[in-house]
Amino acid sequence: MEPYDITVIGAGPAGLFCAIRAVTPGARVLLLEKMEEPGKKLLLSGTGQCNITHGGEMRDFLSHYGSHGKWLKPALFSFTNKALLAFFEERGLSMQAEENGKVFPKTRLSSDVLAVLLAECKMRGVEIHCGEPVTGITRVKGGFDIMTSRAAYHSLVVVITTGGASYPRTGSTGDGYRLSESLGQPVSETAPALTPLLIRNFPFAALAGISFEDMPFTVWRAGKKVGDYKGDVLFTHLGISGPGVLDASRYILPDDLIKLSFVGAMKREEFTADLSKRVQENRTWQVSTILAGYPIPERLNRKLLKLSDIPDDLKCNHFSVEQRTRLVTNCTEFPMTVTAPGGYAVAMATRGGVALDGVDMKTMESKIISHLYFAGEVLDIDGDTGGYNLQAAFSTGYLAAEGIRKTFEKNSQLLGK
Ligand SMILES: Cc1cc2nc3c(=O)[nH]c(=O)nc-3n(C[C@H](O)[C@H](O)[C@H](O)COP(=O)(O)OP(=O)(O)OC[C@H]3O[C@@H](n4cnc5c(N)ncnc54)[C@H](O)[C@@H]3O)c2cc1C
Repeated sequence: MEPYDITVIGAGPAGLFCAIRAVTPGARVLLLEKMEEPGKKLLLSGTGQCNITHGGEMRDFLSHYGSHGKWLKPALFSFTNKALLAFFEERGLSMQAEENGKVFPKTRLSSDVLAVLLAECKMRGVEIHCGEPVTGITRVKGGFDIMTSRAAYHSLVVVITTGGASYPRTGSTGDGYRLSESLGQPVSETAPALTPLLIRNFPFAALAGISFEDMPFTVWRAGKKVGDYKGDVLFTHLGISGPGVLDASRYILPDDLIKLSFVGAMKREEFTADLSKRVQENRTWQVSTILAGYPIPERLNRKLLKLSDIPDDLKCNHFSVEQRTRLVTNCTEFPMTVTAPGGYAVAMATRGGVALDGVDMKTMESKIISHLYFAGEVLDIDGDTGGYNLQAAFSTGYLAAEGIRKTFEKNSQLLGK
């Protein structure tokens, strides 16, 4: 059984960065990756352009991880977005922030981000074994025995960075949850997050591709409002997507009712009054012409009239109160029922995972099994779109490495055993 000091399981951004930072003189570091190549999900990130982080203040990051941001405070403040950008800048890869705060490499290539991480691993002597999935970990005296499809290793320290369960074709298939549980580490229930919503009898399938900036929408469950959101929304063939929907998806359940507003910030009463005034002042105009005065895409305009049972050529002087009420509802609170949030195949993140109260979030070490660490999406952390997930992967990877280095500094006699 080949001995290592540190074994990291999973060569995504969290694992690669943790391995890089954990290297200490005399320590043998092994990085085991299931797929034939490392960083498959990283390569897909940001549609291949890699939205690596957000340029905002670190204190504002905390609200972008659902109710779990506070747990991430030590990691995010120990290794900030600025520190992440400096790491890549120092290695020749410049970064650029967009107006909305999203940060990308100037080259717009996620492969450049991966190349920097792999070069750094090589330079620091991290051994990467690809095509070698870990199938089991056992706690033994003086560390862990690690079984893979090809070999067995002994390691003093193990870091689980196997990612979540979404986009399984990238290698992240939830193995980390099973490995953690087998060691006695609690794992909370998982579900797809950052996922499009499938809508029952979606009436806008023919309008797939139309998107709306900063659209207000509400979520209702059993007749009660359970959420109030605003963000970019995109029509798909089967429902709705876009950053606003993806971010809200962690809170949405099957059968929830979503109400979309196509008239921006204008509330129902405001729109009713404004529409009535325009109708009153232009009695001989067609209702469709009045509706065209609002910033609603033309094809949607026609569809909304149809769904409100209003003929295309109806004149304002024949516009009934019932028709007006239906049109107002469809423009300000268009109701659609969620069949289901999209599954793991289309979700960009996983909700749930290794339970945070079982981990010392200042070192990323298990509170239950000493010398077992976690980083990245395998943890019960899922961030909003905008670079928050990759920043969390790098920051927790960094903190785990710091924790490991401190362990070895305190106990240098452990190394090389
Ligand atoms: C399409 C898409 C686009 C995205 N875009 C962005 C973006 O622009 N910005 C952003 O912040 N976030 C983005 N994300 C989310 C982000 O990519 C992830 O949160 C991030 O990659 C998580 O990093 P990780 O290292 O924890 O896990 P992963 O990147 O999932 O890496 C885990 C690695 O572990 C390996 N592994 C799994 N099981 C085993 C095993 N048994 N043995 C050995 N190895 C194993 C996997 O093969 C994988 O390589 C995107 C996600 C998707 C799906």
